[in-house]
Amino acid sequence: MPQTAPCHGCGLQHQCVCHLVPHLEAPVHIALLMHENELNRDTNTGKWLLKAMPSSSQHIWQRRSPCPELIKLIKNDRYQAYLVFPNERSIALNVVEQETDKKGKIPLLIILDGTWQEAGKMLRKSAWLSDLPCVHLEPSAQSDYQLRRNQQQGHLCTLEVGSEIIKELGLNEQAQALNTFLHHYMRVFKADKSGHALK
Ligand SMILES: [Zn+2]
Repeated sequence: MPQTAPCHGCGLQHQCVCHLVPHLEAPVHIALLMHENELNRDTNTGKWLLKAMPSSSQHIWQRRSPCPELIKLIKNDRYQAYLVFPNERSIALNVVEQETDKKGKIPLLIILDGTWQEAGKMLRKSAWLSDLPCVHLEPSAQSDYQLRRNQQQGHLCTLEVGSEIIKELGLNEQAQALNTFLHHYMRVFKADKSGHALK
């Protein structure tokens, strides 16, 4: 079989899924704050959220200083920033919707993109993050994410977090499109890793 170069868009060698990425329009800005370890992981699903959603952005977390681009967004009057992280003080997304609606602002939802352990570390080491109000999601289904082992049970992958946000905002069809893409991608990814296109 001739050796082909991987697609620049999706990184897959034996097939391309770029044309299958859904297009999402939601009244929210999702900012992925990525742990640097995530940059080199081909199991990272956050990149698909960025491709699917124009109102999203990616920022690389740094140990010593806040991310200037993300700080700009947080300070922007158009947005009201929240950290997507469940804790004893976190509020539900529908409460966020009500709060931002009243103020005429767009919710800026910051997702910590990394493993569960990395996310905890990012939060502990960044005062500028831990000062933000937290929001939790209320997913009804267990995570279907199977590409990584050792994930805490019920821990959603980044794309699933995005899809859950969209669903909880009432955009069921868009959330479903994103989930359908994820399921297809997982099968294609495994086939690709085994050296062939999905049959
Ligand atoms: Zn591709």
